[in-house]
Amino acid sequence: MPRADRPLVSGLARNPLFRNTWPFAVAAVCVLVGLVLSNVLSGYFVFLAISAVTAAIAILGLGIVTGSAGMIALCQLTFAAVGAWIVALCNLRHVPGGFIVWLIAGGIAAGLVGVLVGLPALRLRGVNLAVVTLGFAAAADVTLVQIQFPGSADSISIDRPAGFTSDKQFFFLSIIVLVVCGLAVFFLQRGRWGASWKAVAFSERGTAAAGQSVQSAKLTAFAVSAALGGISGGLLAGQVQLPFASSFTPLQSLALYVLAIMSGAHLIDMAVLGGILWVLVPELLKRWGIPQDWGFVVFGVLGVQALTSGSNLGQSIRSAIWKRQDRKTSNAELTALPPDAGDDVEEVRTTTTAALDPAAVTGEPVLTVEGLTVQFGALKALDDVSFQVPAASIMGLIGPNGAGKSTFVDAISGFLPKHGGRVLLGGRDLAGLSPTRRARLGLRRTFQQDRVPPLLTIGAYVRFVARRRLSSADIDETLAFFGCPPARARLSSVDVGTRRLVEVAAAVLSQPRLLILDEPAAGLSHEEHLALAARLRELPDRYGTALIIIEHDLDLVRSVCPMLTVLNFGKVLATGPQDEVLANPDVVKAYMGETELLS
Ligand code: ADP
Ligand code: MG
Repeated sequence: MPRADRPLVSGLARNPLFRNTWPFAVAAVCVLVGLVLSNVLSGYFVFLAISAVTAAIAILGLGIVTGSAGMIALCQLTFAAVGAWIVALCNLRHVPGGFIVWLIAGGIAAGLVGVLVGLPALRLRGVNLAVVTLGFAAAADVTLVQIQFPGSADSISIDRPAGFTSDKQFFFLSIIVLVVCGLAVFFLQRGRWGASWKAVAFSERGTAAAGQSVQSAKLTAFAVSAALGGISGGLLAGQVQLPFASSFTPLQSLALYVLAIMSGAHLIDMAVLGGILWVLVPELLKRWGIPQDWGFVVFGVLGVQALTSGSNLGQSIRSAIWKRQDRKTSNAELTALPPDAGDDVEEVRTTTTAALDPAAVTGEPVLTVEGLTVQFGALKALDDVSFQVPAASIMGLIGPNGAGKSTFVDAISGFLPKHGGRVLLGGRDLAGLSPTRRARLGLRRTFQQDRVPPLLTIGAYVRFVARRRLSSADIDETLAFFGCPPARARLSSVDVGTRRLVEVAAAVLSQPRLLILDEPAAGLSHEEHLALAARLRELPDRYGTALIIIEHDLDLVRSVCPMLTVLNFGKVLATGPQDEVLANPDVVKAYMGETELLS
């Protein structure tokens, strides 16, 4: 299924009438093609085609857990075995509802098992997770050989549903199941779950900071992936009618995983291609008189190629078919200022100090930090840090490299739970709250490093981070205000500096009470730097957000931040209104040589 941002359909996709219906149109075409194929294909090829469809559904699931969420799961056919087992059991017990109901039950059961298998993924990553999932597949395989499928000892074959009893008809049914699964995956990938999968694959910290639970992102990926595996296995049970353990071995799961990596299975059409290869490669080998097991070797070699080159078959095929439209957007275009930004830039250049609104200092504090202390071994990165940030004000946090600024942000936003002292957000003690909870309470932060997931479009990322209903107009307006590219652009196609601007824009759209920006101007040119400063100054009035800005450029700090806190070796050197802090003898001493500051 081509996606909306490809040239062939992009024009149509932007047409409101077509925007929401085109996936259904593609689905209808697929069903029609299935109908034609089921009448054209003959005996043996029908059977192969059903195998390709069941494999495609399993690979579709792998595309979610591995392709989107970035976790290694080597037990997809074990989930398929669970689906097949449930279908066989329902068949044996004559459970009412027939094959389709059994198939759904198998999918649900496999999804639940998927959640159990996914639990270790909350703690394990990479090779360790691979070992655990492969171990599970091996254990399940041994068990399955022991207990066998229900009814298999007595050769009780599985009843296909009425109207789909012949192979040709069953192939058509499997096509319909594939299309339904494809549609479900398409809409899940576009929605909040899909965004959370792609976010967690890129950065768990970034995901938590967006108010999304990392645990639920990982577990939903495992559950949906396993459910698709279960449906695939249930279909296979209906296809062969007497399922055996030998169809679901760990080695086959491994090969399927490699195939998913190789084909780029997070793309739905490529999962279908993977399903076809799954059947085609062993079939060709058989015709050439080569043992079919060599198919695993072929998949292995292609998988190594995909992993080492960093690009998979799916991407290569797609870029060959559609001459990529979303080529790198030029920097000039990305940093284009909003129409009225020119005046602001001038203002920043000419204003030496940010005006201090007295209300900003006397207002109820949005953040109160009392005696915050963080220790890394022998090093006290933060030592008894105390200060307040008034609501809807801008506080600059400055200090030399290693002063503890980023450590401060981590402690406040919940990423360093073991600290001394208290942190209050608008009077509420944040002790014991996870980063996700803090983000949901309106304490948002950005990162010094890039943590913006490249697989998303800007619009999808903004909606994911904002966590509230937003009209396209709201999004477009804020993106334009920050000089970001349009919502439909892919984050992978913009440079790092621009990604950081998008990160700020998205955080602002969540309407936080306090937004902490850790060196937001890193990676921007001097001009862009000034433009950003002008925009930041407007945030409290425009969005009601208080800001803490960590920044090295003292010009920017002075023009944007009416309040300042200076950190040095983890201690607060001074905090308060800008003119008082800059006149403080300790600050002057610490910044000796920074003649600018003294002028
Ligand atoms: P800043 O952001 O002001 O440049 P940081 O907060 O990153 O400073 O670092 C403060 C001090 O804490 C530095 O000396 C740094 O080396 C140390 N530090 C930061 N993070 C860790 C960590 N995870 N483990 C050990 N030391 C750390
Ligand atoms: Mg830092």
